[in-house]
Amino acid sequence: MRQELLRQIPKIDVLLEDERLSRVIERYGRTRTADVLRAVTGEIRQAVLSGKENNLPDVETILQTAQCRLEENPAYSLRPVINGTGIILHTNLGRAPLSDRALQAVKAAAGGYSNLEYRLDSGSRGSRHDHVTEILRELCGTEDAMVVNNNAAAVLLALAALARGKEVLVSRGELIEIGGSFRIPDVCEQGGAVLREVGTTNRTRLSDYKGELNEETGALFKAHTSNYRIVGFTEETSLEELSGLARENGIPLIYDMGSGLFEGLERYGIEEPDILHAQKAGADVLTFSGDKLLGAAQAGLIVGRKKYIEKMKRHPLARALRVDKMTLAALEATLYEYRDRNQARREIPVLRMVSESPEALRKKAEELCARLKGSAGNGRLTFAVEPCQDRTGGGSAPLNVLEGYAVTVRLDAGRTEDISAPEKKGISGTDIHSLEDLEKALRLAEFPLIGRITQDRLWISVRTLLAGNEEKITEDFKKISLSL
Ligand SMILES: *Cc1c(COP(=O)(O)O)cnc(C)c1O
Repeated sequence: MRQELLRQIPKIDVLLEDERLSRVIERYGRTRTADVLRAVTGEIRQAVLSGKENNLPDVETILQTAQCRLEENPAYSLRPVINGTGIILHTNLGRAPLSDRALQAVKAAAGGYSNLEYRLDSGSRGSRHDHVTEILRELCGTEDAMVVNNNAAAVLLALAALARGKEVLVSRGELIEIGGSFRIPDVCEQGGAVLREVGTTNRTRLSDYKGELNEETGALFKAHTSNYRIVGFTEETSLEELSGLARENGIPLIYDMGSGLFEGLERYGIEEPDILHAQKAGADVLTFSGDKLLGAAQAGLIVGRKKYIEKMKRHPLARALRVDKMTLAALEATLYEYRDRNQARREIPVLRMVSESPEALRKKAEELCARLKGSAGNGRLTFAVEPCQDRTGGGSAPLNVLEGYAVTVRLDAGRTEDISAPEKKGISGTDIHSLEDLEKALRLAEFPLIGRITQDRLWISVRTLLAGNEEKITEDFKKISLSL
């Protein structure tokens, strides 16, 4: 009976010749259409083999299923994935997801013409920076603002525009490296400034800066040590002290803040500097990322004193480092959310993830777990809810752990009958013999899910799941379990 059913599953070659598929093949190509047909018939085969299916779908249904899949999933290289790592700002997974309003703003700006560099009031040429200057001044309490490609670009531009050919004083404790290619000494060099190291790794005092200061000094530079902390016998010169020194000598104090927050997040256990405090303490130029804890698009925000920012806006590098209209649209819409802090916490995904309570996360994990048990729990997959430790990531708050909840998956690696599976690109249930295989199958699934393996189980933290992810995870697991 089974064998008979298996024989009746239509062959790929035959399906490809079907008239009803000719438009689909024209549009998506023969190879890709064949791949999808192979996946669809492969699933039918698995369902028959496992005894879950006693009737074959008709050819029309098979063709329609394949067509729907092709339409929903163009074979782009850059694709959405589901972040089950519990790391909120996962740089490899694209850092911050945008709020709904930011997405709408991007769509509106990108899908048509806009007043990007055009003044509607006078009908004359405008500046792209103008769209976010006002709101940034309001939120940061600074005189002026501009936006470039990312924070690395912001630091480079600040050094090139304000300290080229001059010396820049930086504490030895703050010679940071962020993700390989961004290293303060290299950025100084590229900006044409001469790095002068001050103090020691663990202690740098105001007198150390004073000792190095001379007529060649062009700026004081302070960097937030985003991705590491120096603890123990330490001393750091405060922003107030540094700004006093900068003021006395008529040079700017540049502060690379990393994430940059409009409001401290200590109550969630996250220690990162906030912009208003740094501005009040007297930093002249502040730079921070748009897509870290701020929760907007990739960008480098520069706020501070007008005379310095104007110099940066006029610098030739500004053109090379400029942002496009989509970034500005996402950024402006996100900044608007911050006018109402409660709204910001509700609407900006990164802030929502940071502030989610353990109880809410546990409930979310229990719901997902119940769903998975209901549709994918079989002899070999078992699901449970367990507490886990999440992180902000993206080189922010390296020591801070966020208490979260995960659905954990255990796999009974017992033997499966190894039928000769059809040719396949990914990995199907019959290949799953270990947790590593399961992790790979989920990565290669229709909705790629990134989880992590520790302690003999696969962890899917629910903190970083976005609306609609649960259904997709369930579908992924359902397909995998059907063939296990
Ligand atoms: C993340 C970070 C950068 C780099 O920012 P990008 O927006 O990724 O370019 C620079 N400096 C500090 C202190 C950072 O934390």
